[in-house]
Amino acid sequence: MSEKYLVINCGSSSLKFSLYEMPTERVVSKGYIEKIGYDDSFWTVSYNDEKITGAKRLENHTDAVLVMIDELINNKIIKNLNEIKGIGHRILHGGEIYSDSVIIDDKVLNDITLMTNLGPLHHPGEIAGIKAMKECLPDVLQVAVFDTAFHQTMPDFNYIYAIPYEWYQKYKVRRYGFHGTSHKYITNKMQEILGKTDVNLIICHVGSGASITCIKNGLSYDTSMGLTPLDGLVMGTRSGAIDPSIIKFVVDESGLSLENVMEELNKNSGLKGICGKNDFRDVSALMNNGDEQAKLAYKVFMDSIIKHIAEYYFELNGRVDAMVFTAGILENNVQIRKDIIDNIAGAMNVSLDNQNNENIGYGKDKKMGLITSKESKVPVYVVPTDEEVMIVRDTFRLIKETL
Ligand code: AMP
Repeated sequence: MSEKYLVINCGSSSLKFSLYEMPTERVVSKGYIEKIGYDDSFWTVSYNDEKITGAKRLENHTDAVLVMIDELINNKIIKNLNEIKGIGHRILHGGEIYSDSVIIDDKVLNDITLMTNLGPLHHPGEIAGIKAMKECLPDVLQVAVFDTAFHQTMPDFNYIYAIPYEWYQKYKVRRYGFHGTSHKYITNKMQEILGKTDVNLIICHVGSGASITCIKNGLSYDTSMGLTPLDGLVMGTRSGAIDPSIIKFVVDESGLSLENVMEELNKNSGLKGICGKNDFRDVSALMNNGDEQAKLAYKVFMDSIIKHIAEYYFELNGRVDAMVFTAGILENNVQIRKDIIDNIAGAMNVSLDNQNNENIGYGKDKKMGLITSKESKVPVYVVPTDEEVMIVRDTFRLIKETL
């Protein structure tokens, strides 16, 4: 009987899953369930070339897991639940406690629950997902894979904010960094490509969320996201780093509550804040129609990427083995890759290979490749990220070690 492993990514009203066959890493099925807790919950499950959709009110995450299980069994994607040998969860915040993935027991679940203050937008849904899986598959081991874990190697001078040190000691206010699973995947891939482990990299993960990580000797050395994913780069709907005084100023001027202002910074800022659209394809379309706000949003967005690249280039003292572009926007958009490279070309001695840049595929056909010329001092690669395969690898590894 083949062994199957589930990768689960829960939001407050959503559940995404991928079912893998291991150790082959073959994706057997993928699906998502949305609007959990609303009257119009719906889901999509795909396997082979089939796509199944359904809709009915799902009260909570347990209902969502039951729908997932029904679809897997009714469509003969699995014969029975005994085929599922492990479940890996994407968990936002591991604080300073977790520098690696871990089997979820009562202590781990309690730690994740206590760290809800660090991940208030993400942890409630993720905890609901763990509990729902436990209810429906009580005998299957579950693993937590933290978005912060990979960045625990950062030196203190890169994670300490220049605020009263007591805030770090008492409340653990520090830079944690996120997208760690993606940055680790890319680091491993680049170690393979470059044929050495002690790689120095600048990894630009730019999708709807965006972060840049500086990898020194194969380890995370600095990263743009902070205590929460709001810090750093301008994103689809997040502001990125701003003057913190803006928050009190807007509370005082607008009469909005602190919670409202924080929500605006998370959900209505970034590209959306400037031009009204957060999906990069929409921003590009507006720009191509001559929309001035969209052009401004694009410039601000791109400048924030360039400034972070510059910072990390200097942190690595110019000794960069490669720079990598990954995630939705940089894997797919030819123009922004060209504009970034053109803007750093003189300072970093890089030059674009236009043809290669244009030949990196879109969507399903996306593939990886070098987009700079032979003369370029720093090679720049496009590498599609795969956070889910990292989650299933850790889940498989930890469960095999336990049994
Ligand atoms: P991610 O969060 O990594 O899934 O990336 C989502 C972002 O990637 C959204 O802003 C999308 O608009 C953008 N994106 C996805 N496909 C494309 C594409 N073909 N061209 C430009 N942007 C894309």
